[in-house]
Amino acid sequence: MRVITFIAIDMDGTLINNHHEISMENVKAMKEAEELGYEIVIATGRAHYDAWHLLKGLPLSPYVIGANGATIFSPSGTKIQSTAIKTEQVREIIRWLEEQKLYYEISSRNGIYTPSWGREILKKEIEGLKLSLSKEEFAEVQLGFDKQMNQEGFVFVESPEEILQAATTIYKVVGFTFDEEKRRVGWEKYKNRSDLTIVYSSDYNFELQHPDASKGQALEYLAKILQRDLNPSMAIGDSGNDLSMFKVVSHSFAMGNADEKVKSHAKYVTDTNDQNGVAKAIYRFIHE
Ligand code: CA
Repeated sequence: MRVITFIAIDMDGTLINNHHEISMENVKAMKEAEELGYEIVIATGRAHYDAWHLLKGLPLSPYVIGANGATIFSPSGTKIQSTAIKTEQVREIIRWLEEQKLYYEISSRNGIYTPSWGREILKKEIEGLKLSLSKEEFAEVQLGFDKQMNQEGFVFVESPEEILQAATTIYKVVGFTFDEEKRRVGWEKYKNRSDLTIVYSSDYNFELQHPDASKGQALEYLAKILQRDLNPSMAIGDSGNDLSMFKVVSHSFAMGNADEKVKSHAKYVTDTNDQNGVAKAIYRFIHE
């Protein structure tokens, strides 16, 4: 029987470069690995439909772990598992985010719900930063904003009640702000909750979900149902929501553009997302 070895790859800041593209070099490396019998697993914080949208047309058949592990889909698009947050919890979180005027997104089975006042708040935050940041830092903030807005499946709503009525099966609540203090307050508020998991996937957000939902737990579940273990397997990422994967695989790779904390938890560090770090890590792993 063929040994199933996973190559789990994060999307933003990892597979996708700073021009919002997946490079030909990265596609070629993934394709080569697939042809050698490795299973490609895309493991992203994005909603699964958003991830599929970005993968559309590529000559690959990956599993997709979406919403930081709250969903798992097979290469043919069949749902394998999903782990939702309770509606009462979402209600409570939204109430607090609304009070704080903190931009948020509710990632659900049927769309990414976001309040219509949200984008204006973010634009104001960016305006407020203009004078205190260097040109490069400001460009980074702009890129963060563009990335966040560039998702498939947004639904704009006028009230939190509208979200709770319309969103079926909520996987993740994202708080996103360019205001460091607001972000710190959010992190402090939720970091010790045993009924929620909090992770970050960029410098500007925190993400709340079910404590059983993480990229690492999803990868373990996938290995279990395919009756394989994760040694050897590789995982590659650039952010806090990738650390759970690093824990469960034998070969963890941090991106060159990852922060120091993420790098310190990885066995290897590869090149940046603009220099095909994914392709380089895959070749290193499969030719080891
Ligand atoms: Ca990432």
